[in-house]
Amino acid sequence: MEPSAFIWHRGQLVPWHEATVHVLAHGLHYGSSVFEGIRAYDTVTAGPAIFRLGAHLRRLQDSARIYRFAMPYDGDELRQACFDVIRANDLRAAYLRPIVYRGYGSLGVGAIEKCPVEVSIAAFKWGAYLGPESLERGVDVVVSSWRRVAPDTLPAMAKAGGNYLSGQLMGEEARRQGCHEGIALDAYGFLSEGAGENLFLVRDEVVYTPPVASAILPGITRDTILTLARHLGFATREELLPREALYWADEVFLCGTAAEITPVRKVDGLVVGRGARGPVTARIQDAFFGLFDGRTEDRWAWLDAVPVEAAQATAAGGAQPAG
Ligand code: PMP
Repeated sequence: MEPSAFIWHRGQLVPWHEATVHVLAHGLHYGSSVFEGIRAYDTVTAGPAIFRLGAHLRRLQDSARIYRFAMPYDGDELRQACFDVIRANDLRAAYLRPIVYRGYGSLGVGAIEKCPVEVSIAAFKWGAYLGPESLERGVDVVVSSWRRVAPDTLPAMAKAGGNYLSGQLMGEEARRQGCHEGIALDAYGFLSEGAGENLFLVRDEVVYTPPVASAILPGITRDTILTLARHLGFATREELLPREALYWADEVFLCGTAAEITPVRKVDGLVVGRGARGPVTARIQDAFFGLFDGRTEDRWAWLDAVPVEAAQATAAGGAQPAG
């Protein structure tokens, strides 16, 4: 990754290397953080624009609420901070990483009242998450031996730091087997999702994805794809899917803010379809990237243009680079 100049850290823009956290922060010891991954695209129609910012900030607030974090900033302030950090770094396209965490106060799992809830937002340049060729050529995946959490263990709907221990085990196991990514089953053995992506299958031009109750993160790209697929005239189904549906699918793809829409070439060593990006995946991918290069009309108001006047707004009281 390429560091940028500033990070929005506890309400101020500070130099990248100064955005640090105490080693006894609660979040570091006990996984008590919630975060988002958001992309801004340099769009043809709206200039630099954040994709589905409202949906991401809503999920961040939902994740914080599940863990009963008292959020020190409201939605408008977070929104402004996202614009400020993009502008301060002079970015036209970026990956944004807002994180809310229990900071340093006192040690102990139960010391949550003594640990302040803190917020930082980084913005930096980031290319294709699963490798530069992955969007076209696809990736190889394996079903992981590690399952996702059972519903009464940890909340899968929260995008919490601690959930990514599961993702690390899955991803490392997949790479040890020469694959790019692992697919998890849920506690009941149904298909769930990738380590950092939601999962889609296509069979006879019907688009399938596991339901929210299959221990998935309710992905914003997943929602985008369901909307675009319906708009393109495909039938969509959110339903419980057994593992073997992966072997019966004409097409499989992964999706997420970082992974965007990445076709799957092989599952557990079996070639999917013709071993190349399938036609339905290609149409959905085209419609998705068309939002940014102007070929798809943004009829859903998903693009939030970075306001040109943010610089003046900053001067009038928003966050300014500190020091
Ligand atoms: N599942 C997991 C576990 C993820 O980490 C992500 C990435 N945030 C996703 C799904 C996809 O979510 P989104 O499309 O909102 O980025």
